[in-house]
Amino acid sequence: MTLSAVSKTIGRIHLRTEQLELYVKERERMLKEQLVGRGITDKRVLDAMLKVPRHNYVTEENLVRAYGDMALEIDCGQTISQPYMVAVMTELLELKETDRVLEIGTGSGYQAAVLSELAKEVYTIERIEQLAKGAMEKFELAGKTNIFVKVSDGTLGLPDCAPYDKIIITAAAPSVPPPLIDQLSSDGGILVAPVGSRHTHRIIKLRKVGDKIEETRHVQCVFVPLIGAFGLDR
Ligand code: SAM
Repeated sequence: MTLSAVSKTIGRIHLRTEQLELYVKERERMLKEQLVGRGITDKRVLDAMLKVPRHNYVTEENLVRAYGDMALEIDCGQTISQPYMVAVMTELLELKETDRVLEIGTGSGYQAAVLSELAKEVYTIERIEQLAKGAMEKFELAGKTNIFVKVSDGTLGLPDCAPYDKIIITAAAPSVPPPLIDQLSSDGGILVAPVGSRHTHRIIKLRKVGDKIEETRHVQCVFVPLIGAFGLDR
């Protein structure tokens, strides 16, 4: 993130009261129309998404669309996911306050911020250093102390801190990277990810109990590709 981009984000912390009140109203509308209206029922997920200021995680140019029903471009050709997709994936994770969560694909930091409201610790990996640094700045400004960011190939996971109660991949994978399955708790650990070909994928959920993996399939979606040793080439 450039210095000017950081100062613009800091500037947003000092938004006028009327503007902040407007964003609260937009978040309430987002919840009602995009989330509850489409079947999201987990109150903890809804409360977290009502609380996290999504406008702090979008670019200056997209501020007016911060609460729109769409994914938005961020820096480095990447995206912040559509609010509905964040809600679906978060709900599928069945998060508990004691959970340690691994996220692959920090991007803007928004999904990690939502997870951090619902779990004990969030480890998030981003392959693009500029995005990871930008997200770290935002977490610091928001006073978040339970999110840990690492720059690396997330398809290899983060073995040093494994096992994880929950794992979420926020980029489209051709299949679930085996290291992530290994690093998922075998005591009912849940992994949620968009899986499929480069252009069409579906959210899948894996539940691991002992050495058994149960898979369920959910909504269709569009994500940027997961790039790495167990992802796509580029
Ligand atoms: N969770 C993000 C948010 O809330 O803004 C959205 C993530 S964006 C859809 C996907 C991200 O995954 C991109 O930032 C991309 O650079 C990252 N990514 C792709 N392959 C990766 C890999 N192997 N390891 C870590 N991050 C990866």
